[in-house]
Amino acid sequence: MIGGRLALALAPGLLTDLTAGRKVVVVSATNGKTTTTRLISAALRHQGGVATNAYGANMPAGHAAALVDEIGAEYAVLECDEKYLPGILEQTRPGVAVLMNLSRDQMDRAAELRLLADRWREALAHSGVHVVANCDDPLVAWAASSAESVTWTACGQYWREDSWSCPRCGGPVDYAVRDERVEGVRQPSPGTWSPDGAGWACRECGFARPEPEWRLDGDRVVAPDGGSYELSLRLPGRANRSNAAIALVVCACLGLALEPALARFAEITSVAGRYLTVEDGRRSMRLLLAKNPAGWLEAFDVLRPAPSPVAVSINARGPDGTDTSWLWDVDYRALRGRPVYAMGERRLDLAVRLEAAGVDFEVVQNVGDLSSDRIDVIANYTAFQEIRRYVG
Ligand SMILES: [Zn+2]
Repeated sequence: MIGGRLALALAPGLLTDLTAGRKVVVVSATNGKTTTTRLISAALRHQGGVATNAYGANMPAGHAAALVDEIGAEYAVLECDEKYLPGILEQTRPGVAVLMNLSRDQMDRAAELRLLADRWREALAHSGVHVVANCDDPLVAWAASSAESVTWTACGQYWREDSWSCPRCGGPVDYAVRDERVEGVRQPSPGTWSPDGAGWACRECGFARPEPEWRLDGDRVVAPDGGSYELSLRLPGRANRSNAAIALVVCACLGLALEPALARFAEITSVAGRYLTVEDGRRSMRLLLAKNPAGWLEAFDVLRPAPSPVAVSINARGPDGTDTSWLWDVDYRALRGRPVYAMGERRLDLAVRLEAAGVDFEVVQNVGDLSSDRIDVIANYTAFQEIRRYVG
């Protein structure tokens, strides 16, 4: 990072120089961008050298450092912070931009999401980049629909609290019921969604989910020709199936053979420490990262079933966002009926939230105080790094 910052101070046009002549893929989203970047890089490594910011340094200094590290690599796969996407598109001129989801995150410093989607939309309009976009997220669909060429991919978006109103006109958005756990959803009028029964549409202006060419269906990715590919991932949960589906579509856009790409995906068991099971001599802990409400929804999806214990660790430092009011956007009732431990610097904020949700819990100082021997640990960013340091 320091090297990247210095280099950009000396040579502001460096990213353009370092990406010239390379095949560049840029990946952006609120959640899943590190994993998707890793999956695409793994598939491309068998075609040629790949420069990538594998550890989530996803702003320009991190990009510069990653590109310099692999100066001769034919490909560059760059995870990009949502705010920096317009600048990175302009400076790196990627062949493919991958856009997955937008939801509330780091509310003390992030722009309002609809403004962010508008900025993406403006940046994509005359960029010439081919976009691979998740059509199940209305904000992403709005941003990507300004691009000249888009491969729409239906890979799901279970978090809807940021897209109940239309990004185009502000009218109410209706969703088709695909997930029976989402309550109170009105069906859009017929003809506004695809035959697979998923979809959304604005009740006022008709802006609706674009027809997907590719879609995720359970464990399979269905191609435009009707053929399908089975995901045999070792990474858990539906969020990772979504990540793998969109990564596979990127591979198809780059002309890669897809069966070998799937085999590369299946080799990955953890990404930057996430999903890793670690031991500290007394207990075995599976580490799950959840940084924002949408991420929590996906973390609940991969927990071992109750009564398996869960520890939750929350910090509120710069990288986490200093505003913890988002704790009230997560439905912690999902944790009832099992031992729950509240940890981290903001464990008392968390305790108040858990109490309001009717969850029984115990407040502990750190993972050394956990009295269970096999436990899932969900932590936000700096809390996650602290646990990794604790277990060495
Ligand atoms: Zn509308």
